Amino acid sequence: MSRCLLVFALIVPLAAHSQKTPKQTEVKVQKTSISRDQEMQLGKQFAGQVEREMEVIHNPEIERWLNQIGQSLAKTPQANAYPYYFKLINDDSINAFALPGGPMYVHTGLLKAADSEGEVAGVLAHEMSHVALRHSAAQIGKQQTYGTLFQIVGLAAGTLTQDQNGQCGMVCQITQAGTSLGQNSVLMKFSRGYEKDADLNGARMMSAAGYDPIQLPTFFEKLVKTQGTAAEPRGLALWMSSHPATGSRVQYVSDDIKFYPQRSYKANTGNFAKIKKLVAAVPPPKPQPGKLIQAKEGASGRTNLPAGMKDYPANGFSMGFPSTWQAGQAAPGGSLYIVPQGGVSKTQNGGVELINGAMIDYYVPQAGAASTNLDASTKEFLDGLKKGDTNLRADNPQRVQVGNKVALKTRMTTKTSAHQDPDQVVYLYTVARGSGLWYTALAGQTTKMSDLDPTFKQMIDTVQFPD
Ligand SMILES: [Zn+2]
Repeated sequence: MSRCLLVFALIVPLAAHSQKTPKQTEVKVQKTSISRDQEMQLGKQFAGQVEREMEVIHNPEIERWLNQIGQSLAKTPQANAYPYYFKLINDDSINAFALPGGPMYVHTGLLKAADSEGEVAGVLAHEMSHVALRHSAAQIGKQQTYGTLFQIVGLAAGTLTQDQNGQCGMVCQITQAGTSLGQNSVLMKFSRGYEKDADLNGARMMSAAGYDPIQLPTFFEKLVKTQGTAAEPRGLALWMSSHPATGSRVQYVSDDIKFYPQRSYKANTGNFAKIKKLVAAVPPPKPQPGKLIQAKEGASGRTNLPAGMKDYPANGFSMGFPSTWQAGQAAPGGSLYIVPQGGVSKTQNGGVELINGAMIDYYVPQAGAASTNLDASTKEFLDGLKKGDTNLRADNPQRVQVGNKVALKTRMTTKTSAHQDPDQVVYLYTVARGSGLWYTALAGQTTKMSDLDPTFKQMIDTVQFPD
């Protein structure tokens, strides 16, 4: 009895006290079944996808500036000690996003819309807070899509091979639609509660790094006013629709700032005006390989193909293939496979091995896409293939035509990991394009080549490029 009284006596004064003094809103790091290591691994793999689909600007001065601001925020306790890094993407829509574990991307459009360094810092702090508070990781855990995501990321070849009647399995359907990261609702769309937490944590982060925290909500509200709302977004389409407004951002951040230690906000690199000029001078984005091999949105494909063939109309080319085969990426951002049933198998390290069928992608030469040259780039590509596969033997390339373009055809032989009939013939077709060396590897087990040869010829004959 006396113990109960004691407990009661302890609670009352505390409750009375909390009524008198307003308390600062608590911001929580979300609990999730995903480990920090898994989170970082996911982020890394999605970063690979982003950088194959979008053009990262390699400008040392802009990169240095962005990382200078970002790293000063990353050092604050609110950043939760993730290994953040910051890259600029050539895209004029107003957007920025951070991936689980710390990779962060800022669109040129965002820097063009910002009027001060503090505004840029505000967006970084908000996005970094989604990482620090483990919002994506928690959503993945909650929706139990973690397995699916990891399967997709970790190359799930099974569904490409196991389905009946050439039907595409779940992973294949997802990747066929060309899931780009911006459309991934689990990773990129947050609840209003998470939004408010990211605003508050971001404002505290800014203050700790010496930036005026009120610039976080004022920039967001200015963007909504000048660019449209979440319901009717203009330039802000992606960002605002994935970061719903949570009432008055300015109001609740102002309330939070009352709890911060008194200080003057002096953080400033002094380079903002110069960076704005450099960003304005960046040439328009070049199409990226990851986008070019994806099916073109809304395109139904050609209907004048030979009987029994259907079309794969991609952003960078079109190719016909037997209608009983399947086309899809085994991983977002990965190569395109067009294969008959059983045409690919899963390797021990979780990758995909082509046994029979086609693999299509772009090879970007080491000196950059702009240096793509048919003979030299094909040689560089072949040398790389030989290094990775000691069984590979290549004949001298022959000059042919593919889609009305000069192409090289290289016949190769190698061995697959298939137990029966491991000997394989591969015809590699290469065409120099603005975004790199377009290539198709048409491969088959030697015993199947008499069937595959006419099919491969038909596929190559149907290739078309948009320009
Ligand atoms: Zn957000």
